[in-house]
Amino acid sequence: MSDAYKIIDHSYDTVVVGAGGSGLRATMGSAEAGLKTACITKVFPTRSHTVAAQGGIAASLGNNTPDHWTWHMYDTVKGSDWLGDQDAIEYMVREAPAAVYELEHAGVPFSRNENGTIYQRPFGGHMQNMGEGPPVQRTCAAADRTGHAMLHALYQQSLKYDADFYIEYFALDLIMEDTPSGKVCRGVIALCMADGSIHRFRSHAVVLATGGYGRCYFSATSAHTCTGDGGGMVLRAGLPLQDLEFVQFHPTGIYGAGVLITEGARGEGGYLTNSEGERFMERYAPSAKDLASRDVVSRSMALEMREGRGVGEHKDHIFLHLDHIDPKVLAERLPGITESGKIFAGVDLTRQPLPVTPTVHYNMGGVPCNYHGQVVTKVGDDPEVPVPGLFAVGEAACVSVHGANRLGSNSLIDLVVFGRATGLHLKETLTPNGAHQPLPKDSADLALARLDKFRNASGGSPTSEIRLEMQRTMQKHAAVFRDSALLTEGVAKMQEVNKRLQDVHVTDRSLIWNTDLVETLELDNLMSQAICTITGAEARKESRGAHAHEDFPDRDDANWMKHTVSWFDGWGGSGGKVTLDYRPVHDYTLTDDAEYIKPKKRVY
Ligand SMILES: Cc1cc2nc3c(=O)[nH]c(=O)nc-3n(C[C@H](O)[C@H](O)[C@H](O)COP(=O)(O)OP(=O)(O)OC[C@H]3O[C@@H](n4cnc5c(N)ncnc54)[C@H](O)[C@@H]3O)c2cc1C
Repeated sequence: MSDAYKIIDHSYDTVVVGAGGSGLRATMGSAEAGLKTACITKVFPTRSHTVAAQGGIAASLGNNTPDHWTWHMYDTVKGSDWLGDQDAIEYMVREAPAAVYELEHAGVPFSRNENGTIYQRPFGGHMQNMGEGPPVQRTCAAADRTGHAMLHALYQQSLKYDADFYIEYFALDLIMEDTPSGKVCRGVIALCMADGSIHRFRSHAVVLATGGYGRCYFSATSAHTCTGDGGGMVLRAGLPLQDLEFVQFHPTGIYGAGVLITEGARGEGGYLTNSEGERFMERYAPSAKDLASRDVVSRSMALEMREGRGVGEHKDHIFLHLDHIDPKVLAERLPGITESGKIFAGVDLTRQPLPVTPTVHYNMGGVPCNYHGQVVTKVGDDPEVPVPGLFAVGEAACVSVHGANRLGSNSLIDLVVFGRATGLHLKETLTPNGAHQPLPKDSADLALARLDKFRNASGGSPTSEIRLEMQRTMQKHAAVFRDSALLTEGVAKMQEVNKRLQDVHVTDRSLIWNTDLVETLELDNLMSQAICTITGAEARKESRGAHAHEDFPDRDDANWMKHTVSWFDGWGGSGGKVTLDYRPVHDYTLTDDAEYIKPKKRVY
């Protein structure tokens, strides 16, 4: 197979796949340590989805209200509905303030308080006094363009170090080797989209920073490029993904367009109303109200609509009010969403309410790893054995700090904290320009066979048609509320949709900017994770965080306080078999400074 395609070889200490916030921070760390580092990205770095992050980044700086890292830890554990690993959470919240100051020094233009300190806004689920309240102001913001500011600063910084960027290169598959002691990652194969050349990157470490897979749903706030390519590569390598059934719906996507309105809008005083003009969140979350965590607000909205109190002709959305806020404050703190309201809903936010609906926003699940970024898998009875040479960071990873539900502004901090941690781990464990083992003979076969198959696919179903069917099925069968009947039917339907990949039709046979081919490879990646998501959801007979199962409305710690791990078999439409297993949640902290936060009922 490799004879038919020309392969260009490269050797690195570290190859990072992805140039979003997490990938760039890992690239910086690795290059700064003197390791020969490459960063491969399918879009120009500053077009990664991180650029769209609006509201901000959480860290207990205590600039606007009192705060403490133990409070941040409590809120994150509670937000995760006790599925988060407390050692990793402790690591994240303790490193968070230093990570934010590092960004400040790197040039992120944070909004400021009168006294010059970084401005922090309230965000859902973030409270003072170990969850007791009142709300804390913990989310550091650069107006409502925090991700944009961060990504540009990180890209500029990473250019300062000696890393090589391979821009508009599409990573196809990992190079894995089966050794007597288990699987080892030796590099990655990528397609240069501009000229169709194939590149084999040999490296001591591959860091997957490929972002989420939100696009397996019909309506998502994430970019069209969020197709879970890293997760697809991991599944094809015979390794599992973790907790995929936990998909976050953001309460405020613009109705119809799916474009995000940051939670910062409610942080600045915005509130939701139903068709009767009632501020219904007061009924569902008497204390936190509109700033309860995302799963709680999304479910409340869905219930209001279901009970006939949605707004509009079809009673299928809710109003978000910002019209009572001083237009000067809106212009200063929320300029981006004021613009989005105008463009995507034709609404003047200073005078009219905005139509919104819960929209897929974030994948809590992903590639299982520890807080050093090391990917882990089950070997024998040990559920968490590191896979040598393979790392994951950012939304692609599942550390797991977000458990069953992520708090707003906890992703951006996750990106930089664990991007940095991975860089530090590489610095400690790799020697710059270390000698490479010879590559296995078939190192490019998996990637090229798959590429070649799809490139020549001449069935009867266009990629876009299969993708739409997958997205509609997921939207209907694995949404905010789920029940056994919907899920069981959904699993069967997804199996059928998957089979259609055998009949896929790719029109363009060339290798030069073949977007049809690239979208098909992306669809194949999405499909595997969509099936694992709905299969994991069908199996989980409880409600926890974002997984709201109507037949099992309560959290069941005795039976279900455990992470789902799923393997996928049956690529390109054949089979589609998912194997599920479970691993314990870490019920311990990293150090004695933090106390294990015992499970209790989650109310806001
Ligand atoms: C609209 C929106 C607003 C948000 N607002 C906030 C917020 O205010 N606060 C917060 O904490 N979180 C927010 N989030 C969540 C957060 O922004 C994301 O989870 C985070 O930015 C993901 O970063 P990442 O580094 O993991 O990946 P991304 O930024 O998604 O980047 C993925 C990278 O991987 C590359 N890549 C992917 N596949 C391949 C491949 N096959 N080959 C080569 N390269 C590949 C891409 O080119 C890209 O560079 C928001 C999310 C959205 C969608």
